[in-house]
Amino acid sequence: MTLIGVLALQGGFAAHAHMLHGLGADVREVRVPEDLSGLDGLIIPGGESTTMTLGIEREGLAQPLRAFRGPVFGTCAGLIMLDREHLGMMDIEARRNAFGRQVRSFEADLAIAELDGPPLRAVFIRAPWIAAHGDDVEILASVEGHPVAARQGDVLAVAFHPELGDDTRLHERFLASCNGGRG
Ligand code: GLN
Repeated sequence: MTLIGVLALQGGFAAHAHMLHGLGADVREVRVPEDLSGLDGLIIPGGESTTMTLGIEREGLAQPLRAFRGPVFGTCAGLIMLDREHLGMMDIEARRNAFGRQVRSFEADLAIAELDGPPLRAVFIRAPWIAAHGDDVEILASVEGHPVAARQGDVLAVAFHPELGDDTRLHERFLASCNGGRG
């Protein structure tokens, strides 16, 4: 069975775990470096990136997270954590609260490259967007011309909350990429 770690220092880890369980995956909440061993994939959830950064520093998780070899999926604040100014696991620069702080929480039907079927109903909550990115980063979806989903190798980042709602396609795709991982 596929074992997925969900960084559980702060934020929306429980909804990710719930969705992963529903798809038949095993889930481990990651709070300390030892929790990263033997995982087939890792999710960094949404939440509050400043608080999450402090938690990562407190637990000595920055280097172990960077050293993680396997598919990684960051959502909302998770996208921010992956960027150049935080963990540096993806060659992107996130702009926090890019759509505006409170008023710009919204839903949008997003056509996402890589996903078959109808657009995905995406929930944005004080979301970032990708303000700059390197050549190795593929943009998968945009809102108003601003990139909100991207991939670099086996690191996937989205600015919205795919764990909310009942469209499981992004998690399914992520799980499929984790299968045949490290077992
Ligand atoms: N605005 C938050 C931040 O900057 C991210 C919001 C979210 O994860 N829903 O950390």
